[in-house]
Amino acid sequence: MTGGSLLGQVDHEAMSHGLVTPLGTVSHTGVGGLVTGGGFGRLARRYGLSIDNLVVVNVVTTNRDFVHADESTNADLFWGVRGGGGNFGIVTGFEFQLHPMQREVLAGDFVFPIARARELLKFYADLEIPDDLTLDLIMVYPPGGADGVVVLSVCYSGPAANADTVLGPIRRMNPLVDQVRPMDYVALQRSGDTADPRARGTYLKSACIYSVSCRGSWCARVGLEVRVSPKSLFLQAVRHKVRVRRLSRRTERAYVGWIRRFIKFHGLRHPRDMEVVAFLSHLAAERGVAPSTQMQAMCALLFLYEHVLRRPLGKLEDLSWARGLARVPAVLTPEEVERVLGELRARRGWWGCCSTGAGCGCWNV
Ligand SMILES: Cc1cc2nc3c(=O)[nH]c(=O)nc-3n(C[C@H](O)[C@H](O)[C@H](O)COP(=O)(O)OP(=O)(O)OC[C@H]3O[C@@H](n4cnc5c(N)ncnc54)[C@H](O)[C@@H]3O)c2cc1C
Repeated sequence: MTGGSLLGQVDHEAMSHGLVTPLGTVSHTGVGGLVTGGGFGRLARRYGLSIDNLVVVNVVTTNRDFVHADESTNADLFWGVRGGGGNFGIVTGFEFQLHPMQREVLAGDFVFPIARARELLKFYADLEIPDDLTLDLIMVYPPGGADGVVVLSVCYSGPAANADTVLGPIRRMNPLVDQVRPMDYVALQRSGDTADPRARGTYLKSACIYSVSCRGSWCARVGLEVRVSPKSLFLQAVRHKVRVRRLSRRTERAYVGWIRRFIKFHGLRHPRDMEVVAFLSHLAAERGVAPSTQMQAMCALLFLYEHVLRRPLGKLEDLSWARGLARVPAVLTPEEVERVLGELRARRGWWGCCSTGAGCGCWNV
């Protein structure tokens, strides 16, 4: 292939002969940058990286020499361009190892609710899969507070007769949606051309995870648990929603405070899975808060569910309401009135409220 080719062109030409070489997952990615950088895609488990399948390069070096490089000729240069990017010159021609492969693969997504993320991570970590199955686990919280999902994205290029055995364990996990179906490999390679976040200019950074552990801190790091530090992204989203509605700073502080307490009360789980009634009833029954305090907490949570999570709460059945203190008016004797007024006189500028049998008056003393 020439240095300026795109993946889609390689996939299309090779597959028209029933052959493939492993490249990336979006057809308009350039072969030049992808292959000189490594090249990881849907067939990597089966055939390795793109650079593992590179057999010859033709390079124009920085001193304008036109050089052929492979395992035995200019072996250092051949080693350098497989991962060293454009630093050693311009690759004008690539030759790849091709592999026979059937045109039809099984591909698509299994979708699960985010609430099952822990269980699925463990399942994914323990699952033994053959090299002809690529299985990506993707966790998504869409912007705007819609429900998150866990996606197991499949590309199975092995024998059709083994497909049920290979995909059976995933299907037995009862996904919400099963979109896995036979697909043309070249069409699959084009399927993310507009939807892939990288195709929309998103910055993306990769890391290599050697093992998956479902202990608390790891789950917190990957966002399965809400962190409630003042800088938590979640609480920042709450603040943002308060501000676009132009509520006061005091309301913002009160709402964020109540939401933080609510999350802590439920052991730092995500508010999507939490019980509002349990928290509000706890405030009334165990913390003995006043009705106005309980009402403020309720307003904060109504705001959270309606404007941040976009899942209005509906009726709060079986809520224990806070009861106000019974304030019995004290009737003072003339001597007691004397003493109270004596106290007030000692502190200038205080106001005293005198209650009479007929009504209420406010006197400056
Ligand atoms: C939408 C999208 C999807 C992607 N998907 C994958 C994926 O599935 N797997 C994966 O591994 N990576 C993927 N990537 C990353 C991609 O491999 C790199 O961004 C790569 O650098 C793109 O190469 P390019 O030739 O298109 O880009 P360019 O911006 O043209 O080049 C990138 C770098 O490579 C150098 N370069 C380009 N051509 C040559 C050449 N012929 N000789 C020497 N140096 C050259 C350039 O000088 C530049 O430094 C994706 C990127 C995008 C934008």
